[in-house]
Amino acid sequence: MKKLASYLHNEWKTGTGDGASLYNPTTEVVIARASSDGLDLGAAVSYARDIGGAALRELGFAQRGALLAKLSDTIHKRRDELIALAVENGGNTRGDAKFDVDGATATLQHYAELGKTLGERRVIADGPTMQLGRNPRWIGVHAWSSAQGVAVHVNAYNFPAWNMMEKAAVALLAGVPVVTKPAQSTLLVAHRIVEAIVEDKVLPAGALSLVSGGIGKLFDALGPQDAIAFTGSAQTGTKIRTHESVVRHSVRLNVEADSLNSAVLGPDVEQGSATYEMFLRELAKEVTQKSGQKCTATRRVFVNEAIAKDVERDLCERLSEVVVGDPSHNEVKMGPLVTAQQLADVRAGIATLQKHARVACGGDRGKVAHAEKGWFIAPTLLVANDAGAAPLHDVEVFGPVTTLIAYKTPDDAAKLVRRGQGSLVGSVYSDDEPFCESMLHGIAAAHGRLYFGSEKIAEHTFGPGTVLAGLVHGGPGRAGGGEELGGVRGLEHYMQRTAIQGSKPTVERLLGIAAGGAA
Ligand code: NAP
Repeated sequence: MKKLASYLHNEWKTGTGDGASLYNPTTEVVIARASSDGLDLGAAVSYARDIGGAALRELGFAQRGALLAKLSDTIHKRRDELIALAVENGGNTRGDAKFDVDGATATLQHYAELGKTLGERRVIADGPTMQLGRNPRWIGVHAWSSAQGVAVHVNAYNFPAWNMMEKAAVALLAGVPVVTKPAQSTLLVAHRIVEAIVEDKVLPAGALSLVSGGIGKLFDALGPQDAIAFTGSAQTGTKIRTHESVVRHSVRLNVEADSLNSAVLGPDVEQGSATYEMFLRELAKEVTQKSGQKCTATRRVFVNEAIAKDVERDLCERLSEVVVGDPSHNEVKMGPLVTAQQLADVRAGIATLQKHARVACGGDRGKVAHAEKGWFIAPTLLVANDAGAAPLHDVEVFGPVTTLIAYKTPDDAAKLVRRGQGSLVGSVYSDDEPFCESMLHGIAAAHGRLYFGSEKIAEHTFGPGTVLAGLVHGGPGRAGGGEELGGVRGLEHYMQRTAIQGSKPTVERLLGIAAGGAA
């Protein structure tokens, strides 16, 4: 049985003991193991900080960007191999796997380009210079410089390629070395990517380390210049937030946690219109892509009570057309959930929601193509009996499950959306600008991203579930209160903003500011 090693202080190291099992979720067969037991993660953090950090900080943004472009090529070259691993270990269809792998390469390319734009400098001035006293020779300006620490990235299981590389792209461009800790259940893809990066000798020693296995005592080694970026459940997020080292050293922490994202259909949208079709098409995709194991998937669907019956029928029709089964077959459009535990959690979640909603379609294993075993659940639509019931707005069922909730007025819709207590993304489908405006004022503050779907862009968007490197990803409240990506904004998590004061020529020269102007 293959045991996956960790890449620490520039060497592959295998942990002790049996470790965790990685499964093929379609066959339920164990395909590999992983353990970080017995490995000195503290030494790996020190090596990354001292050796990797120093090497990266020697480079300007453009040179670091060039490394990201090479990383993107390294991954793209192995695209087919990585897709096959994601089908085997993640239960991904080929489409799901491409979404993950291509998301990783596209994000790397975005940050590679950004590096080019930022140029050879290593410090970024933030805003214009200001005169500080009577004499114009004394000025001040804010400037960002690379933290002299390490970036620890703890990732969820659902996007082993994208999640790992979107975080790495930003930290590396900021000049900070990465210690990445993927989720164990889908480790094969992340492990193969790091192997490929090492094979191709893309990065300087210590710039990227991989923990294959549990987090162990890694956080004990963190200090005041280090940063953590975490994606996963709110429960684990809370454990990290309250970890002694994190609290003691004010370690920077970004949390991307769970979210009950919503879609709102405007009262102006008629059945059969282009906007209605867009809403149905994107909703069906959000429920079934990655078998609903997507942080941005739509969990609550709000429609005017006048059209609720039509939406229920049309959405069930779409969901029942999705072929569920062994994802290695081309005609299969949705695979299994990733682990037996995930299936148990989804079933328990549906049972909880069923106390306040009825199952309109799905709800059980359903028809499964080409597989006798496997952790399958059919795409499921629930219809709320009581729009205000707390669990409908509180329980994230991390699978192909969504709940239809009828609203009476736009105000009512906004209030119900806000019951999610902070979400990653909300979508509004409407061609009526006053309605869109009322939703902007009503729910934007409860979201990290707000997506307006309309007839004008019906054929041109990726849908609300696609995270784009140029726009921020994250959300307030229960979504973790974090923010990552967003182009150059993402770098701030790994850099320190310092107010710089001094004589005008010195400050301008140090920060590469054209005399008398902004950087
Ligand atoms: P999880 O159980 O919280 O695990 C996430 C990561 O945390 C894994 O790498 C896990 O490692 C690690 N971990 C577990 N215990 C830890 C601890 N005490 N200290 C530090 N790290 C620890 O979440 P998951 O089941 O993988 O992912 C599903 C959840 O993630 C869902 O709730 C979903 O909404 C959320 N999610 C959010 C986003 C977003 O961008 N906001 C994106 C994707 C997923 P092991 O594998 O070794 O246990």
